Amino acid sequence: MVTAVALRLAAQRRAVDEVLAPLRLSRDDLVKVQALMREEMERGLGKETNASASVRMLPTYVNHTPDGTEKGDFLALDLGGTNFRVLVVGWERSPQHCPTLGHAHHAHYPQLFDHIIDCIIDFQTKQNLVTQMLPLGFTFSFPCQQVGLDKALLLTWTKGFSASGCVGQDVVQLLRDAAKRKRVGNHLGMQVVALVNDTVGTMMACGYDDPKCEIGLIVGTGTNACYMEEMKNVGTVEGDQGRMCINMEWGAFGDNGCLDHIFTHFDTVVDETTINPGKQRFEKLISGMYLGEIVRQILLVMTEKELLFQGKPSPKLQTKDIFKTKVGVSEHQVRSQIRTIMNELELDASFEDCVLMREVCQTVSLRAAQLCAAGLAAVVEKMRENRGLDQLSVTVGVDGTLYKLHPCFSTNLQTTLKDLAPNCNVTFMLSEDGSGKGAALVAAVQCRKGCSPLQ
Ligand code: BGC
Ligand code: MG
Repeated sequence: MVTAVALRLAAQRRAVDEVLAPLRLSRDDLVKVQALMREEMERGLGKETNASASVRMLPTYVNHTPDGTEKGDFLALDLGGTNFRVLVVGWERSPQHCPTLGHAHHAHYPQLFDHIIDCIIDFQTKQNLVTQMLPLGFTFSFPCQQVGLDKALLLTWTKGFSASGCVGQDVVQLLRDAAKRKRVGNHLGMQVVALVNDTVGTMMACGYDDPKCEIGLIVGTGTNACYMEEMKNVGTVEGDQGRMCINMEWGAFGDNGCLDHIFTHFDTVVDETTINPGKQRFEKLISGMYLGEIVRQILLVMTEKELLFQGKPSPKLQTKDIFKTKVGVSEHQVRSQIRTIMNELELDASFEDCVLMREVCQTVSLRAAQLCAAGLAAVVEKMRENRGLDQLSVTVGVDGTLYKLHPCFSTNLQTTLKDLAPNCNVTFMLSEDGSGKGAALVAAVQCRKGCSPLQ
């Protein structure tokens, strides 16, 4: 009897390991991902190779991290994955939020931008700001080909956004046009002085407090990083002096097939059901928008193999996006909490089911953190080499729901990074309201140089 149970358990363990094996990355796998990221970075920076690189390495026209003397009141607009906010950033005032995007992110572009302007005007009215012309910094968390601080062509939408008519357009101009269409009464309008990616905003915001902060990292709905690169290495921009912040757009790493060897069946299925199949492949292994779906696909296969729920999936388990990020977070929760989630999913879960479910979540989120670390290792090692140092000490400004809320993502990330980049001493700094504040900081620097006349 005991042997029969033991045999059944051993067989079950083998079957579980077989399902999870492709998701478990060895140190060699990670070293290889790091090397591939480094290669793609070089290709993205090269004038001739940029067009074919999966990591776009976009110039941001931000040449300095803050020096702490930036001052003034600014409007900051933050449009990203989970956020749509308008805030006033004054160094003595606390920011104010104004959420609501509704379904405008799927609309035709004038609706999206009209909606944004309506929100800004509403906000200015409530704050008694209509008769002031505050410069505006725009945090726009999507890949843009920038030709200056205030000219940014949208390359593609990501993270489920799909507003039509925007790709290829200058996003700053779309905002200015909408502002012109909407100007009413004594409203003085607005002056859009800078557009920044959320990674850049985060780096700048943390850089205000810590001059060593020269990297920005987002692990939220999407994922991406930026860092300060030597101008002489930036083949896509004229000039060899000083540095420029590069928005890596590492979410697209692997879109050219270079990561095919690590994609699993589950990743392929998840990718195929998104609105941008074949795109943002690295992001789809790491960020909050996709982890729940990967977990769900694994649970479905395990149920089919009768390793879970006595082989009976609930209709809810077969529903796309049912997990959201909850499951990722459940990893270290006590059994009773997993039970609650299971009940919500109308799954009849035994004790063993809960234990296995937790193992699945751990496997998926560990892989995400390790891959993120491999990417970061490539960045810090490049910065160390750029500067000819034996040892680099650098701070990463971080933001994003997954990083902030997941119980062990940051620990896994840091442990793996230490292992992959032992000559770099990396400190992580959580950003509070970073991307909005950061956009205002960029705007402040721009205004100090002399704001361009009203548009
Ligand atoms: C976008 C990046 C952004 C990241 C984090 C990605 O999907 O392409 O521009 O920085 O999400 O928000
Ligand atoms: Mg150059």
